[in-house]
Amino acid sequence: MPDTESPARPAAVLLPLPLAGAYDYLVPAGVRPGELVLAPLGRSISLGVVWGAATGEVDAAKLKAVEAGIDCPPLPPETRTFVDRIADYTLTPPGAVLRMCLSTSAALEPPPPKIAYALGPAVPERLTAARRRVIDVLQDGPPRSVADIAEAAGVGTGVVRGLIDAGALTAIELPAHAPPPLPDLARPGPDLSKAQREAAAALQARVDEGAFSVTLIDGVTGSGKTEVYFEAIAAAVAKGRQVLVLLPEIALSAQWLTRFEARFGVAPTEWHSDLRSTERRRNWRHVATGAAHVVVGARSALFLPYPRLGLIVVDEEHDASFKQEDGVRYHARDMAVLRAQIGGFPAVLASATPSLETRFNVERGRYRAVHLPNRHGAAELPQIRMIDLRREPPARGRWLSPPLTAAVQETLAAGEQALLFLNRRGYAPLTLCGACGHRLQCPNCSTWLVEHRFAGQLRCHHCGHETRPPPACPACGAEGRFKPCGPGIERLAEEAAALFPEARIATAASDLLVGPRAAEELVRKVLDREIDLLVGTQVLAKGHHFPMLTLVGVVDADLGLAGGDLRAAERTYQLLSQVAGRAGRAEHPGRVLLQSYMPEAPVLQALVTGDVDGFIAGEMAARREAGMPPYGRLAALIVSGKTPELVGALTRELARTAPNDQGLEVWGPAPAPLTLLRGRHRQRFLVKADRGVRLQAALRRWLAPIKPRADLRIEVDVDPHSFL
Ligand code: ADP
Ligand code: ZN
Repeated sequence: MPDTESPARPAAVLLPLPLAGAYDYLVPAGVRPGELVLAPLGRSISLGVVWGAATGEVDAAKLKAVEAGIDCPPLPPETRTFVDRIADYTLTPPGAVLRMCLSTSAALEPPPPKIAYALGPAVPERLTAARRRVIDVLQDGPPRSVADIAEAAGVGTGVVRGLIDAGALTAIELPAHAPPPLPDLARPGPDLSKAQREAAAALQARVDEGAFSVTLIDGVTGSGKTEVYFEAIAAAVAKGRQVLVLLPEIALSAQWLTRFEARFGVAPTEWHSDLRSTERRRNWRHVATGAAHVVVGARSALFLPYPRLGLIVVDEEHDASFKQEDGVRYHARDMAVLRAQIGGFPAVLASATPSLETRFNVERGRYRAVHLPNRHGAAELPQIRMIDLRREPPARGRWLSPPLTAAVQETLAAGEQALLFLNRRGYAPLTLCGACGHRLQCPNCSTWLVEHRFAGQLRCHHCGHETRPPPACPACGAEGRFKPCGPGIERLAEEAAALFPEARIATAASDLLVGPRAAEELVRKVLDREIDLLVGTQVLAKGHHFPMLTLVGVVDADLGLAGGDLRAAERTYQLLSQVAGRAGRAEHPGRVLLQSYMPEAPVLQALVTGDVDGFIAGEMAARREAGMPPYGRLAALIVSGKTPELVGALTRELARTAPNDQGLEVWGPAPAPLTLLRGRHRQRFLVKADRGVRLQAALRRWLAPIKPRADLRIEVDVDPHSFL
């Protein structure tokens, strides 16, 4: 316990709140930086972290005192530096970043110990059958809680309590959470191929070296990237270091967890939004005390207070879900690299379709790369073919062309499985009135409402607004005249059911698979061949390995190219290769059919011919020409408010004072594509800077004198991925 009697000294304390920075407080002597304290703030008390030397902004005599004594490991220095650096990079208040580290306040106090019961000391005289079973259970097993004993013995808890009262059971205090067991490094992994062995050795060498480095594992789907980085994990754990594995869409990684357990004999520590609050609390503490060896999680797992982190793996490093688009806008892949740099240890990025940013860093020699050119074993990459919808269109009001329909039929007849991929949730993206043409729109956003027929609802995919379909057109009053326009996967599933009446069809999208168990159950059904035809969005594109899936039909290969932002072609290429990678992962060869109205698009041609290098070179050249990332840098400013007038006034002020540094251009203001979002009117600026320009400094100088009214907001998005 800290010595709270000695005189307190001024120190900076950071509160997990979006304030300007750390404030000075009087901190009891002996309380070190990183320790958690309780700090008075106005009339309330806030949690805080002792951050460092006092800023001296306020006279020491006027400082308020904090209280120490929270029984929680201090925030490690690397975590504190990380918070400061992210705040600096993203132009967000450090307290807002700190809040992500302390997101589980319940974990900050140690959990109460668990009470378990063992046999003794008294021996009951007459035993009922039920009591007998309880005794048997405890004779054969470890001490357990009342509920666990009752369950194991198949009796009510009253029977157990009766034995406690009779003195036949003794209470024992157990630590609340047994620490996670050490991964069993002695278990043999699979026999690696030569390329896999070389890649694994390169990664192990980086881990052994114990210095900052970034290595890309560049290998097609199914080439064994996971097996290879498992070897790096083993090496880091052997050195006594913690390991973090970041995965996109963690909820869908049941197969990953199974593989980890098969390799290491234990489960990793999970961190994602589907954890129950008791699990969050336990896992946070396990990380903070250093008890957790391997953490697998979504991007938020970066902010856990690891005291001995020694390796970060970012799997599917190109994945768009690593970019957080609200609050603190950060890219988890880039921040993982930053965290590794701060900690002085290696980072590993894995992908079958590395982002242009990562390829650029490899080209420049900043990152290393290892290559896995082939699929493991006999599995071949699927053959990709195009269906030109201009020549072979589907019937009116249908979405599956004759060749795709025939291919599905063949596949099902052969007793194999097929996947129809459409990256659009719901039944139809637009509903209009057949009488007057009125379109059903979100009241809060400038977007159409998407019909979700399974749920009987219209939903806004931007703000979450939900409503029942109205009985009559709100514009003309016509009843029963609504027409769905365009397909979502629910509509596609309807068409598939009509075309393939014998097939057992499952529809999968993030809104239909709620929670990790639902996804796991679906994966099991596919593996057990209780499903013949999958109709799904990108939730199915990642990581899953379905040996009997031999056909993938991409219903609308053009979908991601519409709108056409900076990364449209790159993302289409990544998504479609990933979906294509689902086909033919075992001995059965796979094929992929792309339906398109613009089959000549370079990205689709690259997928068909397999000329990835040519496509990437073309994209890179276009980016270089335009000075766009990865060659140049971007930042977006999104100005929003309740009325267009207020927003206009602020954007005019910003336009007047915009920086005109050498190597920096400011575009805008322009109405955002989503001019209205969650009831707020929006305008955007886009700032483009040469690599050498100190972008954040220029933005800071620009924004510092601007003091918007409380109902106006300026959001900064450094390295934006969304341009809506
Ligand atoms: P990736 O991560 O590159 O998609 P995986 O690591 O998931 O590839 O490997 C694809 C499949 O091949 C998995 O089922 C994996 O267990 C198997 N596999 C990969 N390498 C080997 C190996 N050397 N021996 C046995 N099975 C392997
Ligand atoms: Zn909305």
